Amino acid sequence: MNPQNPVFIPGPTNMPEALRRACDLPTVDHRSSIFREILFPARDGVRAVVKSASAEVFIFPSTGTGGWETAITNTLSPGDKVLAARNGMFSQKWIDMCRRHGLAVEVVETAWGEGLPVARFEEILAADTGHRIRAVLATHNETATGVVSDIAGLRRALDAAGHPALLFVDGVSSIGSMDFRFDDWGVDVAVTGSQKGFMLPAGLGIAVFSGRAMAAVEGAGLRRSFFDIRDMAAGYASGGYPYTPPLGLLNGLKEACGMLLDEGLDNVFARHRRIADGVRAAVGAWGLDLCARRPALYSDTVSAICTPAGFDAGRIVSHAAETYGVAFGAGLGAVAGKVFRIGHLGSLTDVMALSGIATAEMVMADLGLDIALGSGVAAAQQTYRVSAAPRALAAE
Ligand SMILES: *Cc1c(COP(=O)(O)O)cnc(C)c1O
Repeated sequence: MNPQNPVFIPGPTNMPEALRRACDLPTVDHRSSIFREILFPARDGVRAVVKSASAEVFIFPSTGTGGWETAITNTLSPGDKVLAARNGMFSQKWIDMCRRHGLAVEVVETAWGEGLPVARFEEILAADTGHRIRAVLATHNETATGVVSDIAGLRRALDAAGHPALLFVDGVSSIGSMDFRFDDWGVDVAVTGSQKGFMLPAGLGIAVFSGRAMAAVEGAGLRRSFFDIRDMAAGYASGGYPYTPPLGLLNGLKEACGMLLDEGLDNVFARHRRIADGVRAAVGAWGLDLCARRPALYSDTVSAICTPAGFDAGRIVSHAAETYGVAFGAGLGAVAGKVFRIGHLGSLTDVMALSGIATAEMVMADLGLDIALGSGVAAAQQTYRVSAAPRALAAE
């Protein structure tokens, strides 16, 4: 890997220089007042990025996976029923975690490449007249397949069924890059980490709790210790952490939220959409298909690209790394060897995306796939050229 090249994996993402510097702090006494000047703006920033007025933001030294555990262990009890769809590696791992914690997961098997089956969920919820389902799990953006699911639609399904289940949303690869409306969608816990949309190193697990989720905490019987949000809340109430905080990362998070809000969330989302449109235009020009089955499911943060039958897609990832020093994402789980992934989230510009598309073309041509050099690049250039709005960045 050549560290001068951008990475095209769907996390960890490229780090802007300003955020690397923000993470690089000298030792600071975390019991001094300096810490709250980092912690509180970081929490406020996350709340703004997920578009909530009043949610509680908990930030653990952890990763997105710890955010999943924070969501379930603070709100549920052993044997509780939860509803989830398995449509990719990340939804599968969250299901697996729930089972290891003794939850009864009703899994709706869903094709990898499809989104969360909202209509099927509505049927199941409507049939659950005794309200035994305590929580519904949704992976907003399935990073393994490049599929986005309809969380607003899921909220409507819950409401149409008159079902009180809590709504837990994994937004690890969407929050900060794609529109996420915690309040409007009636999300109860949203989960993310530091190393994707927030453009930071891995190391923070973030869980955002609604008032309803907070109300479930005292009655929740699952065991928890490190991830008990009551300890974290007590720490915040006295201006600190219940243990030693990762101060540099938290300062990075404060700055990252500032960067996103300064760019303007709508502009951030439009940039991700445009970059993704260019990548998709390239995929079309190559004559390849996305794993995501319909345009409504296309992710603006990662594209999983199907390679021709009989070709091991993993060769693209290893050849790109060995020959050109560029990282693409491998296929995971059920689509291992069948897709390779281009991550296009975080600190990325059209110009950077063009370099990734050009590299993918060289790699595929080297490996004997029928790809004309320049075909995908030209298609992406058309996307970036004609849809280009006046760029604030170019003026800076
Ligand atoms: C990356 C990712 C995770 C896992 O997060 P970690 O920070 O690696 O623990 C979970 N869900 C989704 C959708 C992801 O993209």
